Amino acid sequence: MAPETILELKSVDKHFGGFVAVDRVSLSIAEGEFFTIVGPSGSGKTTLIRLLVGMDKPTHGDILLRGQRINDTPAHLRPTCMVFQSLALFPHMTVGENVEYPLKCRNVDKAERRRRAEECLGLAHLPAGYYDRPVTKCSGGERQRVALARALAFDPEILFFDEPLSAIDYRLRKTLEKELKDIQRETGKTFVYITHSLEEAMIMSDRIGVMRSGRLVQVGSPREIYKAPNSRFVSEFMGEVNVLPVTPANGKLMCEPLGVAFDPPPGEAVRAGSLVVRPEDMRFVNGGPPPNGVIEGEIFNEYLLGSRVQYQVRTRGFTLLVERLRDAEQPDRQIALSFTPEDSALFPE
Ligand code: ADP
Ligand code: MG
Repeated sequence: MAPETILELKSVDKHFGGFVAVDRVSLSIAEGEFFTIVGPSGSGKTTLIRLLVGMDKPTHGDILLRGQRINDTPAHLRPTCMVFQSLALFPHMTVGENVEYPLKCRNVDKAERRRRAEECLGLAHLPAGYYDRPVTKCSGGERQRVALARALAFDPEILFFDEPLSAIDYRLRKTLEKELKDIQRETGKTFVYITHSLEEAMIMSDRIGVMRSGRLVQVGSPREIYKAPNSRFVSEFMGEVNVLPVTPANGKLMCEPLGVAFDPPPGEAVRAGSLVVRPEDMRFVNGGPPPNGVIEGEIFNEYLLGSRVQYQVRTRGFTLLVERLRDAEQPDRQIALSFTPEDSALFPE
């Protein structure tokens, strides 16, 4: 049985005066899904999530929770909960008091509050011994876990997160990203997560929605977004890519600055635009028939990126990026590059 839609947005807009911060966003989120909205700073992510939790109202459009219109339902009457970028923990309280706070507001009795708080601390991977610890004695990562435990204690139908890990250092962030996904799987809750980091989105999400200037420009699985970005914007947002300006010439795509013509990607008509190739899809040509037009160049720099090496290749005023596994054979300085048409994408801009 297909999972039910829990949250639906129908052409949702948010205007601030004449400025359109959220522009006709339509989307369905399934029960139990880990859905991430990703986009650069200022693309409207926080504005959108404020509409979803009820901190603000849409200018146009509808928000439906299990089919019920909730546009005008204030945040405290919605069965949803938000975990913020800057944590709104109560500093004068212990960890336990913080986690129990939503239960106290609902008049849950003391013994049950404690039982539930300890359960939620466990879910958030905090030792039960933290119950009596002052929040001020917790590290940044631990506070993040307390905030999550408090959100879980509230037992919301949907948990919303607005960049909760952005202020945490890299190693810990990587750990917490995986833990969040584990917790989401353990609890079966619907998570709607916001981040400006596509890398973070890729690790955790069942599906990703990419935002640009208030619009949702692509929605898909991490794999779909990676393998089949529908615009140059999405492909560049995914990380560094090679962008070759091309114009039609004799059934091929001519890159004038390079003086090289390429075959179009399969299924694409020959037209003017940008031909995009990922660094890992650029190949060194050494003997054998090249898969496409050949670009001559010179390696002038290389960077070690964990298990891979990135080469910067200079060619006729362009700099192209090529990535290889670290233990691949060292290429010569003067090299020839090519790529298969299947590994390129053509966008009309
Ligand atoms: P993000 O979270 O993706 O960084 P925001 O949703 O915070 O982006 O902001 C999107 C745009 O809306 C920005 O240009 C921001 O300046 C504008 N904006 C957000 N809130 C308001 C407001 N209350 N009044 C006017 N403009 C706003
Ligand atoms: Mg924001």
